[in-house]
Amino acid sequence: MSKNLFMNVVSETIKYFELLQDIPIGVTSSIEELKSSVDSDLPNDGEDPEIALNKLISSVKKGLIHSQNPRYFGFVIGGSTPTSIAADWLTSVWDQNAQVFDTSPAASIIEDIVANWILELLKLPKELSVGFLTGAQMANFTALNVARNAMLEKHGWDIELNGLQGSPNFNILVGESCHGTIHSAIRMMGLGKKNIKSISSDFQGRINIDSLKNELNNCSGPTIICAQAGNVNTGCFDSFEEIIPLAKKHGAWVHIDGAFGLWARTSPKYFHLVTGIEKADSWTVDAHKWLNVSYDSGIVIIRDSKNHYKLKTIQCSYAGQHSEEHRDGSQWVPENSRRARGFVLYAALRNLGRDGVRNIVENSCSLATEFAQQLEKLPNVHVLNNVVLNQVLFRVESESNCDTNSFNNNICEHIQKEGLAWIGTTRWQGKIAMRISVSNWLTTKADVDKTIRSIRNSIEKELQIINNSVLINKTA
Ligand SMILES: *Cc1c(COP(=O)(O)O)cnc(C)c1O
Repeated sequence: MSKNLFMNVVSETIKYFELLQDIPIGVTSSIEELKSSVDSDLPNDGEDPEIALNKLISSVKKGLIHSQNPRYFGFVIGGSTPTSIAADWLTSVWDQNAQVFDTSPAASIIEDIVANWILELLKLPKELSVGFLTGAQMANFTALNVARNAMLEKHGWDIELNGLQGSPNFNILVGESCHGTIHSAIRMMGLGKKNIKSISSDFQGRINIDSLKNELNNCSGPTIICAQAGNVNTGCFDSFEEIIPLAKKHGAWVHIDGAFGLWARTSPKYFHLVTGIEKADSWTVDAHKWLNVSYDSGIVIIRDSKNHYKLKTIQCSYAGQHSEEHRDGSQWVPENSRRARGFVLYAALRNLGRDGVRNIVENSCSLATEFAQQLEKLPNVHVLNNVVLNQVLFRVESESNCDTNSFNNNICEHIQKEGLAWIGTTRWQGKIAMRISVSNWLTTKADVDKTIRSIRNSIEKELQIINNSVLINKTA
């Protein structure tokens, strides 16, 4: 059945990885071209499977960002290992609905095993409660909902019965450089700006402890603190050993957004950044980032499984009966029908092993340090962060009196256009900077060298453009 179709996918995949390192990383056609190559009328009569698939391949090809390339350093994306891709295919082939035990006993049992492995890898207590969902956004949303409900219950409010209307006033304390998904999670859970207290952070984006103390002293009622393991710009970590005891003293819930940074727990070399984190109440971590599994794969962890369970007390009548004995994957996440993400994690973790995960983390971090050292040697380049993990933030100062923000934007554009490496810009402390995130399992020192050459060439190119325009202005 459809043998040719599937064989085509296999050969397309092999070809893709063979060519990956030699094709430009970024988009190679204009957006208009791309739109017109994809644009088509909805066919009336269905097309032959191979034709439909080939149309897909040919029309999206030029619009792909090849973040699988080891010189893709944008955002915190990471690649996918072949094992994770293959397991992801089979997950689709098997078409399991990982909703409840009855819809896929295999998916249910594997989630239990993977949950234990993840807790073991992250050196978290094994009785914690784990849910598998799409990503850190949904993990933050889930954890904060559980937190809200538990904190309201603690303050005598039955949210199950009363909902939010008329509930006690709420305080959510977040670092001013927390991830945007924390803010959207708070909005989606029915709270607003007035409920959010933004705590100032230091020059690396870490929560300022004195400001936190002040805010906590002014808070009464249900309180949640969102701390961060791994800032998307600097890679820095909040001081958990100070924040968590402080929160406990005030009876507050502590949630840790560790979308990528929590993986630092897998390395003895970086463990010091995340000590004390095990005393928090909930955690977010992504697998599709640093663990290099395919999208989408996020994980939410909650200390108290009774609180976690109460996220969704209502079961669908048609779904299998919940039993204490077996895991219903959808009980722990907002989704109902859901992908069997555990399959990919299971295969990926078997393939990598404890050492493999640790190696990805340590290799990325040491290459980030290498980046910082080489960048500092380039004229007018300043590394803006303490490179404690895998993130490098830098900015090029210009000698001419051009606008430094557009200078950096333009340099970044040259890098992306050249296509040898992909780096993005970010806004850091009010200014445009460039950001390198090393999170791909394949990245090597040679990739760093190549990228540095591309950065150097792009700076020179931009300087030349500026000098030429100065010359033109002078002669005009
Ligand atoms: C990436 C990231 C998120 C959002 O993760 P998604 O998987 O895109 O939902 C949240 N917090 C931090 C710290 C991140 O790095």
